[in-house]
Amino acid sequence: MKIAILPGDGIGTEIVAEAVKVLKALDLKFETESALVGGAAFDVHGHPLPEATLQLAKDADAILFGAVGDWKYDTLDRPLRPEQAILGLRKNLGLFANFRPAICYPQLVDASSLKRELVSGLDILIIRELTGDIYFGQPRGRRIATDGHFPGAEEAFDTMRYSRPEIERIAHVAFQAARKRKAAGGEGRVTSVDKANVLETFQLWKDVVTEIGLQYPDVALDHMYVDNAAMQLVKAPKKFDVVVTGNMFGDILSDAAAMLTGSIGMLPSASLNDKNQGLYEPSHGSAPDIAGKGVANPLATILSAAMMLRFSLNQPEAAARIEKAVDSVLTQGLRTPDIHSKGTTQVGTVEMGDAVVKALG
Ligand code: NAD
Repeated sequence: MKIAILPGDGIGTEIVAEAVKVLKALDLKFETESALVGGAAFDVHGHPLPEATLQLAKDADAILFGAVGDWKYDTLDRPLRPEQAILGLRKNLGLFANFRPAICYPQLVDASSLKRELVSGLDILIIRELTGDIYFGQPRGRRIATDGHFPGAEEAFDTMRYSRPEIERIAHVAFQAARKRKAAGGEGRVTSVDKANVLETFQLWKDVVTEIGLQYPDVALDHMYVDNAAMQLVKAPKKFDVVVTGNMFGDILSDAAAMLTGSIGMLPSASLNDKNQGLYEPSHGSAPDIAGKGVANPLATILSAAMMLRFSLNQPEAAARIEKAVDSVLTQGLRTPDIHSKGTTQVGTVEMGDAVVKALG
């Protein structure tokens, strides 16, 4: 097993170090190799995704990724900005399926911005299509408008597009995930989120998801417009089971779902291709506001490492050991500042990582 370690920028290096520490404490046989990515790679190699980093990622069974970005790179040309590294990895490795579980740990129920009764027991899975939609659609750019409301004015444009096979494969991923959750005692329902009332792209999305759904008679399917989905996520989030949606809607809804669980610092994610090769990263960014202070929550990254063991490295028992250890440190009352509340013990990034290692048993 070979794991590419790409810590990136900001808190990325701090939280990935803790996840690697936990992985190494498991006594599994794997090889790791680290490389620069994002702003850190731009500073040294002049590019956020150097060829050697991309090659390492392609050759690995799995990639453990921290986060990229910093405000100091905001004036660079777009292809050189740190965030292009993550888009480049997704595109080059074909990582089309993004899994973001949003689970509210009972110990953190009061850290959520919503009322206890709305989030207590929350366990939903957001599946976001990751390599299509308006983030990748061509053409895009800036030009002088020749029509529209202000002909002759500068305008910018992007293209929203999805092809039938792109929708089919993400729909299969969602129905299969719902089926697995049903087998494990869950509800087994897919909510497909679209904007079919306004957008042609999402009318095709809805039609194709409906067709694929016929192949999964054991899984219930409903459809919801994205504006309603945003409202329902904060009104009655436990009504959802598996949510499947496009790249841009998924980007926004999954961050909203993150807050339901108490902190974005708790949320892992997995991005998989059709060979089960995956990139595992916390759902949050590089948090430049707290970088270098030793206060970042490493649990999302540690839980991402657990997802990596389960999805790409076929080590479900080791994954469960990590998840149990995280649960145990929360029960012990240990909290980084983002999830700290009265009556709990505040710890830093490294102490939290050490506590998880200790709780592995
Ligand atoms: P962010 O997720 O980095 O931070 C949002 C807020 O959450 C901040 O207040 C931050 O301190 C807090 N936060 C995030 N992770 C935390 C953790 N583990 N523990 C405690 N608090 C945490 O989002 P942002 O501020 O909008 O973006 C910062 C940079 O990250 C930007 O350059 C952005 O482009 C980049 N970004 C990268 C990724 C990625 O690498 N996949 C994803 C999102 C944003």
